Amino acid sequence: MSKALSFETEVTGVVLETMDVLTFRLAIPADIPFSFKAGQFIKLTAETPEYAPEHPTLTRAYSISNAPLGQGYIDLTVKCYEDGHLSKHLREVTYIGELMTVEGPFGDFCFEAGQASSIALIGGGAGVAPMRGMMEYIIEKKLPVQMHYLASCRTPQDLIYLATLLGWQESTNNLHVTHTITRPEGHSWAGQTGHIDQRMLLKVCPPETTELYYVAGPTEMVKSVRKLLKEELNVDKSRILWEPWG
Ligand SMILES: Cc1cc2nc3c(=O)[nH]c(=O)nc-3n(C[C@H](O)[C@H](O)[C@H](O)COP(=O)(O)OP(=O)(O)OC[C@H]3O[C@@H](n4cnc5c(N)ncnc54)[C@H](O)[C@@H]3O)c2cc1C
Repeated sequence: MSKALSFETEVTGVVLETMDVLTFRLAIPADIPFSFKAGQFIKLTAETPEYAPEHPTLTRAYSISNAPLGQGYIDLTVKCYEDGHLSKHLREVTYIGELMTVEGPFGDFCFEAGQASSIALIGGGAGVAPMRGMMEYIIEKKLPVQMHYLASCRTPQDLIYLATLLGWQESTNNLHVTHTITRPEGHSWAGQTGHIDQRMLLKVCPPETTELYYVAGPTEMVKSVRKLLKEELNVDKSRILWEPWG
């Protein structure tokens, strides 16, 4: 198990993924022996003087969205809520060079070499963040693992990592990407529509060919997919790893 550490980090980069999702890059200081498994999360603490005196600092959990390949940084992909506290700080106040505290890594929602040869990665909204790290890890390490990625979001403009995912799908033979759009009205979209349901799961990741299921994102979505897998597809709960964010 990677030992949880607490250390100061600096924001070194920000990428706009969609209108309300950003990826923040945080440096891991050279003298900190921080290691993690693909898919684990950290606790991020930032100074938030704009909310003082009630909340001079805030701490929230965020999944690491890059792979553990010794790059000297971690990426966090964050959905920013209008009425959220830390996510709003990250979008509206955070600057390159801002110092924050990272504690971690935490969690069993992770993939390790040899764990399975066929996995389903099912994410809602920014719930695809830990999946990105797992896919990058499997691809970069050239592991013989079939990956069936199924992500749902509201509109085509909300698709996260689209160019990266399509590039990986094109350049490998073990990643299969499916997106479903839950509010397609008024958008040009020829792919799957609607919430993740039994029919979609059977098509993308049937139990006969899928060893492990990873499900992450908003609590309601995660619970609903887990219920479908258990009750409609008869998948044993030991084969379902889930991480609700509520
Ligand atoms: C293990 C774990 C991993 C996580 N990984 C990620 C990640 O990789 N990326 C990411 O964006 N978030 C992730 N989260 C969620 C994150 O920890 C925060 O809950 C989120 O950023 C909101 O924090 P906030 O301070 O902005 O909102 P808060 O101030 O805590 O909440 C204020 C309001 O924001 C809105 N809100 C907050 N969270 C949600 C939600 N999940 N769904 C709908 N509305 C919400 C609600 O209206 C809520 O009333 C993770 C949570 C857990 C437990």
